[in-house]
Amino acid sequence: MAGFATRKLYSKGALLYRNRILCQALRMASSGMNVAAFQKDKAYVDGKWVSAKSGKTFEVTNPSNGKVLGSVPDMDRSDAQAAIETAYRTFQAWKSTLPKERSDILRRWFELCVKHKKELATLITLEMGKSFPEAEGEIAYSANFLEWYSEETRRTYGDVTPPPAHNKRVMVIKQPIGVAAMITPWNFPSAMLTRKIGAALAAGCTVVARPAEDTPLSALALCELAEQAGVPPGVVNVITSSRENASPIGKELCENPLIAKISFTGSCAVGKLLLSQCANTVKKTSMELGGNAPFIVFDSADVDKAIQGLMFAKFRVTGQTCICANRILVQEGVYDKFVQALAKVIDSQLKVGDGFEPGVTQGPLINKRAVEKVENLVNSSVGEGAKVVVGGSRKDGPGNFFNPTLLRDVTTEMSVAKEEIFGPVAACIKFKTEDEAIAIANSTSYGLASYFYTNDISQSYRVSEALEFGMVGVNEAAITSPETTFGGWKESGLGSEGGKYGINEYLAFKNICYGIQHKA
Ligand code: ADP
Repeated sequence: MAGFATRKLYSKGALLYRNRILCQALRMASSGMNVAAFQKDKAYVDGKWVSAKSGKTFEVTNPSNGKVLGSVPDMDRSDAQAAIETAYRTFQAWKSTLPKERSDILRRWFELCVKHKKELATLITLEMGKSFPEAEGEIAYSANFLEWYSEETRRTYGDVTPPPAHNKRVMVIKQPIGVAAMITPWNFPSAMLTRKIGAALAAGCTVVARPAEDTPLSALALCELAEQAGVPPGVVNVITSSRENASPIGKELCENPLIAKISFTGSCAVGKLLLSQCANTVKKTSMELGGNAPFIVFDSADVDKAIQGLMFAKFRVTGQTCICANRILVQEGVYDKFVQALAKVIDSQLKVGDGFEPGVTQGPLINKRAVEKVENLVNSSVGEGAKVVVGGSRKDGPGNFFNPTLLRDVTTEMSVAKEEIFGPVAACIKFKTEDEAIAIANSTSYGLASYFYTNDISQSYRVSEALEFGMVGVNEAAITSPETTFGGWKESGLGSEGGKYGINEYLAFKNICYGIQHKA
């Protein structure tokens, strides 16, 4: 009877979902995972789990099925002010810690992230939708930034310069700039934070971070581990808010004189707004904004290798990364062969579905707006003459799914080639010469990532030097790592993250000039 009564209360879809969650919980319990210990419903300020002053909260949902995962505080400008004051007060002590002390803490944080990789990855798949293996990959990548900066903190060397005069001695030292504010997106809910927070803490800065409203759970889980790692109260503060409060909080972070640095990853439009808001207090800024990456396949390329590279550069995270291949430029000699082979690989290698289902490579898009945008781009290019080779539409049923899509006969005038797609759509454009490919690739206000495939060594030098992008993959699509710089040219951004320069974004250079008296 009880079973019957339950069935009457739930729809078929809801029952399936409930069963899936139960199975998942059982799987986690049997693997020793305790995701609940990491799923927080409060923000983290001054080492305490806190509510919004207003008491308001907002819901976090699973983009795979729209179900509510939990609620977190919907903070506003006054909460941001309190977090900033905490971070400023804490900075006065944190800035004087030894690099070795900061290094040990960051190292412990890295180790804890690795230890709890599965719990952290589960939260990413739940709130963001990417497949569980991709989520695990993100945690490894995310943790590696903490490891990298645990090492970099001991290498912030300055200079002793040759004296400009007999009675002078000059040196340049680097000091932590102050409180660093961070605003991060939803597509890498963990790694976008550690890439910034790792650098800031290593430099001796304290942090106020506001994660995207779609994915606050991963950010709060990181705070739990930060605390376990021994990050002192007030050094890392994470404030959460709905989209409605993003703008007032952003304004406070940009305008408050106690903040010395803003680091933002997100759209060009919001990045430009933040830059303008930072002007009055002349803040140091890092901006990692949008991209429109060209992916060029020359006649001389190994087509199979290029296709495998493209599968990663285009379909990773269901096409929702700022370095995703956006314009696929294929030389006329291999165009047809490339498109045909790519269609087969898309059919055989990609599987759309909930990120926890085995074999799924393509999770949902983040929200309905994203699905509509991708659908409109596909429809408008088809209206202008592009042909659908694979996919071309949403996936039927619940969730924000869009089928992997291959378009041929795309031209540079179509909006699918001009705008950042941020979805699983491969748009193939034909070109004739190397010069034409370079001209098309550079004909955009974006300058983040670019890729090309060639087996001609001279061409690899010529093209990599001619591309106006902050990152170039030559016969390689996985181009990012903590060891190297990540940053865009033109309107794709300012500054760079990771690599040996990343920590400089949180350091101020100081010239100290000594006047010395010579003995008579
Ligand atoms: P997307 O369209 O991918 O969400 P956005 O640039 O809109 O990219 O968002 C990136 C981050 O910036 C998110 O955390 C979002 O909440 C935040 N954001 C959006 N608008 C503003 C704003 N006016 N001020 C500060 N942060 C904002």
